Amino acid sequence: MTGIPTNQLVRRPAARFFWLWAAVWLFYMAGPVIDAWHRPEVWERAVGLAAGLGFCVLYLAGFMWARREMRETGRPPSLAQATLRLAGLVALATILTLLVGESGLTALVYVAVTAVFSFPPRAAWSVVFASAIVAGALPRVVPGWDRSVDLTFAVMVAALAVWGVTRVVQRNAQLAEAREEITRLAIAAERNRFARDLHDLLGHSLTVVSVKSELAARLVQLAPERAEAELGDIQRLVREALGDVRAAVAGYREMSLATELASARSALDAAGIEADVPVTGEEVEPERRELFAWVVREGVTNVVRHSEAKHCWIRLGRSTVEISDDGRGPKGPELAADPAAGPAGHGLNGLRERLGAAGCALSIGRRDGGGFTLRASAA
Ligand code: ADP
Ligand code: CA
Repeated sequence: MTGIPTNQLVRRPAARFFWLWAAVWLFYMAGPVIDAWHRPEVWERAVGLAAGLGFCVLYLAGFMWARREMRETGRPPSLAQATLRLAGLVALATILTLLVGESGLTALVYVAVTAVFSFPPRAAWSVVFASAIVAGALPRVVPGWDRSVDLTFAVMVAALAVWGVTRVVQRNAQLAEAREEITRLAIAAERNRFARDLHDLLGHSLTVVSVKSELAARLVQLAPERAEAELGDIQRLVREALGDVRAAVAGYREMSLATELASARSALDAAGIEADVPVTGEEVEPERRELFAWVVREGVTNVVRHSEAKHCWIRLGRSTVEISDDGRGPKGPELAADPAAGPAGHGLNGLRERLGAAGCALSIGRRDGGGFTLRASAA
């Protein structure tokens, strides 16, 4: 994975003013609080104000606390904590209502909203309906209360509105998460492609350059003109490798089977391995040629690097390619560990991925008569 911190991929700037959004609605609590202020007895005033203001503070603090919990732990506060907070709100609302009468029922709107915000749906809606029923019934049954005060509608509408908003916020958070995941996967896939291309391109070029420079060093005294030719080759290979790396960085490179066959011949030749290699690659159906060019490249690189062979054969069919040698063959433990997967190196694993993506399979094993065989074919 890429390890890109979440907050760098997605920003949520509006969240800072979240508390203000919750606070604005407390405006309606001014009614019962002012009624408390107008109570005749001092103790009534004191208790009423304390209950009313305490209610507002608990309501707001609850929102902000829930948000902080969400941000720090990624989860809302536990159900027990939310229940405790709601019980506090109900207790304060009850005290307020006992003192100021029907206007205290306004608090039920906030109780319902808090429930929707912090409880799972079924519990939340139970609290909402209970609040709505209490808000509608009490003014009708309590002697002396104004029967026209009915907050049922207000409780339901506020609860529905908050429910809608929390849904939208949740969906947005899920969307943002999904987008992050897609970005991460895209980066991982791109990194994988780049690693594979770089390995296959440079693994081959550097192997051939190393073999050819050894050869050139040996030829300097014996056959200076052949040494010069090898040095020319080395120069060309290095230039091509540089171009390949640039193409891999840009995510664009072209492989040609004919070119890879020619370069295989030259690489095997320089390594002193007798090569039996087709010339053009026209036997292969056109849409598989580029894929098989990668197979030839990695297969021949391995023959040069690992096989200690005298001979190497490349065989092509319409939808098969086979590279065999008469060298030391696969090491016992490499094949024994997992015959299906074969020896695990970057090269062969990358090749297996590349082939798999194009619906082809890779098999490797011991050649009849000793040596190594690598075969790719349409599955
Ligand atoms: P790498 O070349 O980076 O080591 P590969 O996946 O290409 O990784 O190859 C894995 C291993 O398989 C090699 O390290 C080598 O031991 C063995 N191997 C591959 N091709 C041959 C071969 N032609 N002859 C002998 N051993 C080979
Ligand atoms: Ca290799």
